[in-house]
Amino acid sequence: MMKNKKVAFITGVAGQDGSYLAEFLLNKGYKVVGLLRRTTSIHRSNISHLAGKISIEFGDLLDYHTLEAVIRKHRPDEVYNLAAQSVPADSWTHPIYTGEVTALGVTRMLEAVRSVDPKIRFYQASSREVFGGGATTVCSEETPFLANNPYGVAKVYGHLITRTYRESYGMFAVGGILFNHESPRRSLHFVTRKVTMGVACIKLGIKHPPLNEIGEALVQDGKLSLGNLDAKRDWGYAKEYVEAIWLMLQQTKPRDYVIATNTLFSIRDLCKVAFSYVGLNWEDHVISKKEFLRPTEITASRGDYSKAKKELGWQPKISFQELIELMVETDLKRLSRR
Ligand code: NAP
Repeated sequence: MMKNKKVAFITGVAGQDGSYLAEFLLNKGYKVVGLLRRTTSIHRSNISHLAGKISIEFGDLLDYHTLEAVIRKHRPDEVYNLAAQSVPADSWTHPIYTGEVTALGVTRMLEAVRSVDPKIRFYQASSREVFGGGATTVCSEETPFLANNPYGVAKVYGHLITRTYRESYGMFAVGGILFNHESPRRSLHFVTRKVTMGVACIKLGIKHPPLNEIGEALVQDGKLSLGNLDAKRDWGYAKEYVEAIWLMLQQTKPRDYVIATNTLFSIRDLCKVAFSYVGLNWEDHVISKKEFLRPTEITASRGDYSKAKKELGWQPKISFQELIELMVETDLKRLSRR
């Protein structure tokens, strides 16, 4: 039977990128199949608006057979492997689990694709954390991988096993080396969202703020606790990055690309923009606590996305300030509705 719609399979569909990618592909006319972990939680706010528009399958990157069964059932044209234990900070407390999901999970996905149909195009969500503590301040596709946390090391494995399947089996398998990208859908494990939600809680005087990653109230006595305020990142907008992800699978040749903004801002800059948007001085509300420091810090590096610009025709659009203000505005609206 002839298929009239392209089919895409997205692991991690309820995550930040998965939900934006699902919307993007639906707009392009794809049939979208998304993988969810079967858990007791039914909190899937990122994709609740897509109910009925995407097909949901349950499975886990730890479980090869469910992955193969879903791929065999839906015969996707494109597979986007976005699922991962995706929080670098948590990878020190869960190094083995991180390796099982974020590293070996990629091999399970590649094997499942290869056994059903090696012509299926495959995208692996690689990360700038692969560069780790290398000294280079601008990283490109040619920069050596010097990952220095369990998450980054797992992502190196995922990237290289993807390349290995491409070179060994001739598969269209690519890794997108994405620098940090944020949005109102970013989880509260990440500093941008902690800050924007913290600002909204403080501004609105919320009595019971959400919990942070160590199970404490995000804001206590008007104070927001963070880690290293001098850490710098290249931060882009997730909604723009999913277009680059899709473009990588539309090329004639499978290649890896760096996706970034080639700008750097510190956590202090982030706090300054977020608090001043609501007329507050960040220094009155932010404290740095050692519980939130990473055992090793990655180098403050920007991403050189010139290859993606030249070959994919992709470049970032919104500024860092616009992105953070959008996130604060959305958190203010969310809390005002509570
Ligand atoms: P995210 O919001 O944390 O989403 C990750 C998704 O993976 C979640 O939906 C999670 O499901 C799912 N997942 C976790 N463990 C799983 C398992 N064992 N089996 C199946 N699904 C599992 O992450 P994101 O920001 O969208 O990032 C997407 C991908 O890009 C990740 O691989 C991340 O490591 C990578 N990446 C992200 C960035 C960034 O700045 N955002 C940068 C570079 C690379 P639950 O909802 O059930 O937890």
